Amino acid sequence: MDEKLSFFKDGVRLDGRRSDELRPIKIEVGVLARADGSCYMEMGDNRVIAAVYGPREVHPRHLQEVTRAIVRYRYNMASFSVEERKRPGPDRRSNEVSKVSREALEPVVLTSYFPKSVVDIFVEVLQADAGTRTAGINAASVALADAGIPMKSLISSCAAGKVDGEIVLDPMKIEDNLGEADVPIAMTPGGDITLLQMDGRLTKDELKRAVDLAKAGCRQIYEIQRKVLVDRYSHMEPEICDEAVAMAGEEI
Ligand code: ADP
Repeated sequence: MDEKLSFFKDGVRLDGRRSDELRPIKIEVGVLARADGSCYMEMGDNRVIAAVYGPREVHPRHLQEVTRAIVRYRYNMASFSVEERKRPGPDRRSNEVSKVSREALEPVVLTSYFPKSVVDIFVEVLQADAGTRTAGINAASVALADAGIPMKSLISSCAAGKVDGEIVLDPMKIEDNLGEADVPIAMTPGGDITLLQMDGRLTKDELKRAVDLAKAGCRQIYEIQRKVLVDRYSHMEPEICDEAVAMAGEEI
């Protein structure tokens, strides 16, 4: 079959979305009893869980920083998360995703409050459909707030891509794998970008449009993250609620 795959049918994408539409999002907070903070997130067919532990003592001790906490992030894809069984354990890709995800979150964590300690973030991908690093960062950001880790703001993350010459928001697997480019970003609610990657080829103008579209996606995700946290904590003691709302980036 030589016919080229078309990513659009009757003006909409293969899953019925417009070019500027995110996949459906579901977020649950506090799903793990033994973590200090946790979050389960669905972004389309991606399913991820984030667990946060800390601030706690650093092991091994030589990693300890005298003036601040260190942040560790481990991204792991379950072997059953993709169609063909993935070989378990870390690999080049998961090391890269762990590194860029940590760098996406670290700028908002107030690490100077907790010298000589560590904040550990674990992200487990249960089901993958492109955009797992962005789903992991979104879930980790909510889990950090759930753990009560002081932060300047939440971080929201999503990608834009190019398919059939068109810039689209939040590419699903077929668009990511067979499309022309993929640009995942992460940002603060104020618009400061903490992650920017690009896979594929784009002109300068296309890159600008992709980043603008992904930023619009992040703003929508931020509203969902914030609402989930406010809903979870608003019935609790006023101080706890205020703290959670402050972490969601709202002036009080
Ligand atoms: P992201 O998930 O952040 O978009 P990639 O662009 O590297 O990261 O991967 C895109 C998608 O390709 C993944 O979400 C997953 O569906 C698939 N994929 C990645 N690594 C593997 C793998 N080792 N085996 C099978 N599928 C994979």
